[in-house]
Amino acid sequence: MAVRITEECISCEACAPECPVAAILEEGNEKNPNEDYFYVKPESCVECVDHADAPRCAEACPTEGAIVWDMPYTAEFNDYYEQRNEEGIYKIRVHKKKGLMLPSVKEQKFIADIPMADREEAANVQEF
Ligand code: SF4
Ligand code: SF4
Repeated sequence: MAVRITEECISCEACAPECPVAAILEEGNEKNPNEDYFYVKPESCVECVDHADAPRCAEACPTEGAIVWDMPYTAEFNDYYEQRNEEGIYKIRVHKKKGLMLPSVKEQKFIADIPMADREEAANVQEF
């Protein structure tokens, strides 16, 4: 990951077109585990590294608390993502050959400068 969209999301649709890797799913998408709000696929989100200076989704979002930091999508946090996937918080893609695309299968880029405390506290990505 990543960033995560929370239940504060008002489904305004501003974020999804901004994502350079098409990691954001609208409500009602069968790959979105949230019934009522948007979702970031953690196995796809690259925190906009190599695309922009800051997460584009958060810059487009008008709602405080809707887009928050999550843990890096790296092998170090494999158990975190695996457990939360089992709990239904995420719906990580199952690849035909590689299986569940956990960080141990494929890591994603992340912004190294973000304090780990901000990630643990699910701090707002964007400052309001
Ligand atoms: S941080 Fe960037 S890559 Fe991740 S969901 Fe937002 S726009 Fe997409
Ligand atoms: S821009 Fe923010 S409020 Fe709008 S759909 Fe995306 S996360 Fe939800």
